Amino acid sequence: MAYNVSVEEENKEIAKRYKDLLKGTYKSLTTDNKKDIRRAFDFAVEAHSGQRRRTGEPYIYHPIAVAKIVAYEIGLGTKSIIAALLHDVVEDTHHTLDDIEQEFGETIARIVNGLTKISRLSKDQDASIQAENFRKMILTLNDDVRVILIKLADRLHNMQTMDAMPDHKQLKIASETLYIYAPLAHRLGLYNIKNELEDLGLKYTEPEVFNDIFGKIKNSKEGQEKYILSFSNVIKETLTKENFKYKIKGRTKSIYSIRKKMRVQDVTYDEIYDKFAIRIVYKSEPSQEKFDAWKIYSIVTDHFQPNPTRLRDWITQPKTTGYESLHITVMGPLGHWVEVQIRSERMDEIAEKGYAAHYKYKHSKEKESSLDTWLNRLRETLESPDVNAFDFVEDFKLNLYSDEIFIFTPKGELKAMPTDATALDFAFSIHTEIGMKCRGAKVNNKLCPINHVLKSGDQVEIITATEQTPKLRWLDFVVTSRARTRIKAALKDEQKEIANEGKEILTRKMRSMKIKLNKATINEMVSFFKLKTSLDLFYRVGNGSLESSQLKDFTIQRRNAFLSFFKKRMKRNTPSPTLHKNEINDNFDMLVFGQEEEEEQLDYSYAKCCNPIPGDNVFGFLTINEGLKVHKKDCPNAVSLQANYAYRIMKATWIDSSQQNFNVFLKVSGTDDFGLVSQLTRVISNNMHVNIHNLNISSVDGLFEGQMTISIKNNKQLQKLTDNIKKIKGINKVERIHKQ
Ligand code: MN
Repeated sequence: MAYNVSVEEENKEIAKRYKDLLKGTYKSLTTDNKKDIRRAFDFAVEAHSGQRRRTGEPYIYHPIAVAKIVAYEIGLGTKSIIAALLHDVVEDTHHTLDDIEQEFGETIARIVNGLTKISRLSKDQDASIQAENFRKMILTLNDDVRVILIKLADRLHNMQTMDAMPDHKQLKIASETLYIYAPLAHRLGLYNIKNELEDLGLKYTEPEVFNDIFGKIKNSKEGQEKYILSFSNVIKETLTKENFKYKIKGRTKSIYSIRKKMRVQDVTYDEIYDKFAIRIVYKSEPSQEKFDAWKIYSIVTDHFQPNPTRLRDWITQPKTTGYESLHITVMGPLGHWVEVQIRSERMDEIAEKGYAAHYKYKHSKEKESSLDTWLNRLRETLESPDVNAFDFVEDFKLNLYSDEIFIFTPKGELKAMPTDATALDFAFSIHTEIGMKCRGAKVNNKLCPINHVLKSGDQVEIITATEQTPKLRWLDFVVTSRARTRIKAALKDEQKEIANEGKEILTRKMRSMKIKLNKATINEMVSFFKLKTSLDLFYRVGNGSLESSQLKDFTIQRRNAFLSFFKKRMKRNTPSPTLHKNEINDNFDMLVFGQEEEEEQLDYSYAKCCNPIPGDNVFGFLTINEGLKVHKKDCPNAVSLQANYAYRIMKATWIDSSQQNFNVFLKVSGTDDFGLVSQLTRVISNNMHVNIHNLNISSVDGLFEGQMTISIKNNKQLQKLTDNIKKIKGINKVERIHKQ
């Protein structure tokens, strides 16, 4: 890129950008504050002098921009602005941390130190330890939240200016952003930054998708503005009569979330009805805020019919991110459903800026806010040791994006839990010991099992039993990272204990069969029983799943190599009882992809790095240029692929291609017409290899809706079938749904 600016012009530009930085913050800054910031600015300018960004611009543009995001979009104060200005000084210049501490004090030095540590992590080229790096980064939340907040600002500016980067770096940085930074921004309530990070992430990972949706949004802008105007015209008069000072604006869904919705619900751009929401932001006294919100609600619903199933009151019970707002969906002008968000100016600022704004309004005498609770919880979880960094990051991420439900304790206190939380999750959220000993729960006074999925508003009382211990299968249904980490840690301890016992038992048994238990025999046994490690072996002996008769098989095999040769051959078709029931046999020769019940046949090829063969434990990875590649789960590249591109990983399952049929749910709708049903069934049965399992038809006011389960061999067949159904007169729409 050509970059041709004189030094003089450049210095002018630097000064201008610095002025810009202070412009929006001057209100809250004292003269001393401003002096300190100026000092940091001069220090940074000197330190970075001569350095340039990849675009050719002076390097100092970057720290100024980061400081600006920190001040304006996150709403942090002087110390953070200074730390942002200095954030790359230690990493990229001759200045040391000691210099910073001497010049700007201990707090700022500590924040800059945290930022330097993180930046060293992400520079590490060895992708296989990326998960460990993410973990270390998450751990800095423990030290000072400001480190992560400034890091998010840094990442945002880097994403905004990524065009000058080489392609492969763009992809890596963008994937990382989607993988960890956007979820973190979300959890800290920085909605604007989260949306921008996601949109930019999409721009560099899936440019065609991004541009397509971007264009469509641009085209619909004008219509949208007109729509909002016609909406506000209806309620304007009443709002003014009630003396409200307010603003009505449109809020477009982010490109990324539109794409996510299109994918998850399998709909087209035009079929998404909530592409934008209408936001009413009103001025209010703190004591009147809630009352005013409901007053506006009442005015809006006087003119527009509300959808009673879509009312969310985040004012009475704010989200754990601190988010407050009243959401309703009403039948707006032109007969379109539209979401209306009602919130005060204060709530609006918290919603946009998140964490920092939340604290600005918090009074010290108030009880601990839900965001505090979350951070404290997080600290606890972070402290518990967990060896596997990848699991840690995955579990942690689980809790970043989940929606919330609210549960009452027996005393009537409210607790926020993620959606799909079970009684057991709730037990762990109260106390680790209560989780470990949880035997069941009383949900609204009815006895329920520990895997009972809770609903918002449930009142839950946990029942414990002293003899209860954590079980492996608990991991199948808990959803909170707190419960997962605790259960895993407990199981590991338990497993070690059982394995120790098992080792003693095995030594004794082998001795009685005149075999010495040494490294060589242990290895023989591990491979004989098709296990992975000696720990597995000892564990199975310890818990009795490996029985004496099987151990005998081993000794016989060992003593008589000839006989065992045949035994082994015979065993291939009769799986030994130690192995899983659904062990893969020779017929399992083809892969399908996706979650259970929704598996699809897709074209795939095997990755060269690990050369999987049928029956191996594998997963699918969507590459940019070479389609779907299949890797072994223990491929050396697996961790880095999963850590960096988790969203491109697909679950892969081996199937017997000679027998496989897929169940697919179809929804058909149209105008009711005589003979439609018989035509429909005829079309389906005329398609070879397609069977209808069931068909439910309902017809109301001449509108026809049918749902059916059919079993088919592959996607092509499905395509052909839906095409044929669409040709039937009266059918308007055929769509594939995920469940009936
Ligand atoms: Mn930076």
